[in-house]
Amino acid sequence: MAEAKLIDGKAFAAGLRTRVAKGVAELATSGGAKPGLATVLVGADPASEVYVRSKGKTASELGMASFDHRLPAETTEAELLALIARLNADRSVNGILVQLPLPKHIDTPKILLAIDPNKDVDGFHPINVGRLGSIAAGAPLDFPVPCTPLGCSMLLADALGSLAGRNAVIVGRSTLVGRPVAQLLLRMDCTVTITHSRTRDLPAVCRSADILVVAIGKPEFVRGDWIKPGAAVIDVGINRIPAEGGKTRLVGDVAFAEARAVAGHLTPVPGGVGPMTVACLMYNTLQEARRASGLPFAAV
Ligand code: NDP
Repeated sequence: MAEAKLIDGKAFAAGLRTRVAKGVAELATSGGAKPGLATVLVGADPASEVYVRSKGKTASELGMASFDHRLPAETTEAELLALIARLNADRSVNGILVQLPLPKHIDTPKILLAIDPNKDVDGFHPINVGRLGSIAAGAPLDFPVPCTPLGCSMLLADALGSLAGRNAVIVGRSTLVGRPVAQLLLRMDCTVTITHSRTRDLPAVCRSADILVVAIGKPEFVRGDWIKPGAAVIDVGINRIPAEGGKTRLVGDVAFAEARAVAGHLTPVPGGVGPMTVACLMYNTLQEARRASGLPFAAV
């Protein structure tokens, strides 16, 4: 059997960013507002700093306004809520991104609940979680959808076309990835199974999948013989493991070389799902800027 076709998330994300930039320019010419993204970082976690910087930089590159809010680790919940209230009221802000995880003394669900659902470009507000959970098959996604899952669904649609009737198995049931991916694939008419750490005979369940989405955070956990020949495999995992010469390298949750010999389509790590997350954040911010300007949702 031929090797799996690699799904080039880096290239797809670059194309999506270009289409978003075009959408930003069109919005300006039609008299709409310049989209604005506010990022909020509490504390100085190095990984979070890298993510926030890259989000702000990408927003600026696409012609959006970027508002960078850095708060000290000892910021109180009340102070953070006050900032969110200001950003909710600020008409130049269309998207509010509070970088997670927050320090332990802050109640994360309370903070997410305080964000205006129409500025919740991460898609984590309970209203948006509910919108996704109750969406009809094929209905437009005219509300913010969590970025990494949205990226997975875009890559699958691009690689496979219609997903109708395919068996999709999701490994991982987190609210960040597994569950929203399942909702998106149901909307696209897949038959969806969600698995987790208590699932019995996970390899057998995975072998039933035409589409296998893996988001567990365990390096190379899913082996080649868990994969149905020809299946499309989306590897969301990002794990840093020791490499030769005292270095480290990134691997996914799927044993890449084994999977490549069996699957029909496969996302690499890095360069698969990863680049889609920030591109989808920009997509969500553009959509919310269109909404604020009284324009309808427009897929780009
Ligand atoms: P969580 O830790 O929140 O969830 C992990 C899920 O995997 C849980 O549902 C857990 O099951 C399940 N799981 C753990 N071990 C097993 C096992 N042995 N068998 C079956 N299921 C198992 O992780 P996230 O969803 O936040 O992230 C998953 C991965 O995706 C990570 O590597 C993360 O870095 C990556 N990620 C990548 C992103 C990107 O590309 N931009 C964005 C977000 C995440 P249970 O519920 O039973 O505990």
